[in-house]
Amino acid sequence: MSDTAISARRDITDKRLLRSFSYIGGKWCAAASGETFAVTDPASGDFLADVASLSAEESAGAVEAAQAAFAEWSGLLPQQRSEILRRWFDLMIAHKEDLARIMVLEQGKPLSEARGEIDYAAAFVEYYAEESKRPNIEGVTSHLPDAEVELWLEPMGVVALITPWNFPAAMLTRKAAAALAAGCTVVAHPASETPLSAIALAELAERAGMPAGVFNIVTGRASTVVPPWTSSARVRALSFTGSTEVGRILYRDSAATIKKLVLELGGHAPVIVFKGADLDEAVAETIKAKFATSGQDCLGANRIYVERPIYAEFCAKFTEATRALTLGRGMDDPDIGPLMNENAVMKQEAHVADALEKGATLACGGKRHALGPLFYEPTVLADVPDNAAIMREETFGPVAPITPFDSEEEVIARANDTEYGLVAYVHSMDPRRIYRVSRALQYGMVAVNRTKVTGAPIPFGGTKQSGLGREGARLGMQEFMEIKYVCRDWA
Ligand code: NAP
Repeated sequence: MSDTAISARRDITDKRLLRSFSYIGGKWCAAASGETFAVTDPASGDFLADVASLSAEESAGAVEAAQAAFAEWSGLLPQQRSEILRRWFDLMIAHKEDLARIMVLEQGKPLSEARGEIDYAAAFVEYYAEESKRPNIEGVTSHLPDAEVELWLEPMGVVALITPWNFPAAMLTRKAAAALAAGCTVVAHPASETPLSAIALAELAERAGMPAGVFNIVTGRASTVVPPWTSSARVRALSFTGSTEVGRILYRDSAATIKKLVLELGGHAPVIVFKGADLDEAVAETIKAKFATSGQDCLGANRIYVERPIYAEFCAKFTEATRALTLGRGMDDPDIGPLMNENAVMKQEAHVADALEKGATLACGGKRHALGPLFYEPTVLADVPDNAAIMREETFGPVAPITPFDSEEEVIARANDTEYGLVAYVHSMDPRRIYRVSRALQYGMVAVNRTKVTGAPIPFGGTKQSGLGREGARLGMQEFMEIKYVCRDWA
């Protein structure tokens, strides 16, 4: 173990949170083969941990454990499930600093963003601890003269969860808390770049009194551990957050067993800034929308459209604000940390080179930073043509392309001209325009004059190839429940 990894351990107060095993049926499990995979710190490349790499059989065993636990868990009173979730929430808050530091080590994001993510992640657990206790279906009146009709919502059974590396805690709790509150049991696979946060959450779930088999974490190669879940008829629903490409594979592989799917996939968010908007606010909010999580966010601004009369001023102010952003290791709490891996950096390079070749101009940045191989300078490209790759593909990094527009109709058509439909950002002071544009945008979420829109009580999700279903809110829990219709004879 390198010095960084040793000092990282020193930074964690509760050492039992730093585990490297899967958690199945209430037991911490290494692979029987002894196989592991390495987790490294993206800021330094330093080794952090060797984590258990489970086999397909061991992964199938997690489904057995979840199935075995289902009857007892789903049979508890909602109040009893709620109490366990509430204790899990309390433990997350009590260990917030350790959880945030584990996340910084494996993911690289700035420490204050990691702390914010733990609050966000915990909020789902708290929300669903409450929501699980409430009646959550409307009644129906009978259409038959001699019968009484009722609708019941029942938990589906075993649910499989697959999460990405950009939000290693929140993407897990957003799914797991909803499924557990619904009365389902869970098998979850965290991204192999960032399994330590999920493992730490399992440790806290155990301390919260989660019964054995209810919440299982399976680490290892996705290509090995996920197929036993997609092919299993026992897994009744699958909830995935990640790329649209992998979402398509899971959609296909779930067809044989007709699983319920919740897919939170890629985004390509447009930002539209109209003349008359508060320009300083639009710049500040777009900086957040572009550079939070070092740009590695499905909600990240990927195309910035600015109305021509304010275009030059916006570009100048946005570039100045971008130049002021600090880069550094997450633990030093800069504005921007490293990217997750070499592929991510290569994508920035490819998008910048392609845009420049097609006529864009480089306003700032445009290259790797001396801090290390995974650090890429925050970059602004101006006058980016619509045929540039960055205007069509998810960049997932700190490169901001800006382009002018001349009319509302034109910018709506350009903003909607994508296979994605997760979030769109609009800046305007004209209420009628805000209404028209919000209506016309083909996106699951529209943010007006602000960036932050997410939270436990809202239904998060996209349209088109950004996904299926919603997470958060009451809807998020209902995704894991079946409606049963019961018709009782009076006579
Ligand atoms: P990814 O490559 O799609 O991986 C996500 C998860 O899928 C990981 O757990 C990964 O496991 C697993 N996986 C990879 N290949 C698989 C396969 N063939 N079969 C089954 N599982 C497989 O995505 P990512 O690079 O981690 O995350 C970035 C993407 O997530 C972006 O597109 C972003 O927009 C999207 N995202 C969407 C949302 C949303 O809510 N809409 C939120 C955050 C991120 P391994 O690591 O073991 O390969």
